[in-house]
Amino acid sequence: MRKPLVAANWKMQGSRQFLVSYFDGFQKALSTELEQSVDIVLFPPFVYLAQAVKMLEQAAESVKYDCVGIGAQNLSQFASGAFTGEIAADMLADVGCRYVLVGHSERRSLYGESSQMVAEKFVAARNCGLTPVLCVGESLEERENDATLDVVNSQLKAVIDLAGLAAVTEAVIAYEPVWAIGTGRTASPEQAQEVHCAIRAMLADAGEKTRILYGGSVKAENAQALFAQPDIDGGLVGGASLDAGEFAAICKNAQPK
Ligand code: PEP
Repeated sequence: MRKPLVAANWKMQGSRQFLVSYFDGFQKALSTELEQSVDIVLFPPFVYLAQAVKMLEQAAESVKYDCVGIGAQNLSQFASGAFTGEIAADMLADVGCRYVLVGHSERRSLYGESSQMVAEKFVAARNCGLTPVLCVGESLEERENDATLDVVNSQLKAVIDLAGLAAVTEAVIAYEPVWAIGTGRTASPEQAQEVHCAIRAMLADAGEKTRILYGGSVKAENAQALFAQPDIDGGLVGGASLDAGEFAAICKNAQPK
């Protein structure tokens, strides 16, 4: 059985003070039952990663450390060198990150990350022991042209070709239809399930163990119906994850019934 995972992508938002109040609110909302049944990952901006790891360690007496992890929103495909402004995978591991987002649609569309570059970043993350959360998804135009599965397939294939199928099945995949990210427009549970099921089929037998998250305007009010789908193993949450209480409510909706 796949353990559900719910992740908070704060994007370029937050501050040191925000982190303190967030942890306070989130910890109060956590229960032993929730910690045992759902994995939770927070993706703050780079500069707050070390503080987030430290706060988690300090909270270790009350929070089950294994179930809550910290991750970065991006990484370099290179191991080290003259790449001004970039952050390498082993630096993320060094400050205590366990996860990293790879191929988020904002990276693909705003920063021109090709599927080949995404694949290189995926490999760089794994080489340093990080779990990549590989984001895939189609634009509105692609969906309207009935190209959703082709787009997702080609985004996945680029990574499988470079990293191998086994590596991809060991990672976490996030299906995030671009038209649903930050728009308030959510894929219906049936639309999301159809793509999740197709992704799992692309991963063949080993895909049975792969966690596939849905992302795109997930909120406490729609999480339950989405997470009830058989191939949806949790969520990658942007806007709604900035409110600790709302994010905790989303995590509770991922608990197996
Ligand atoms: C995201 O950034 O990955 C995301 C899904 O954002 P939102 O929940 O705001 O749509």
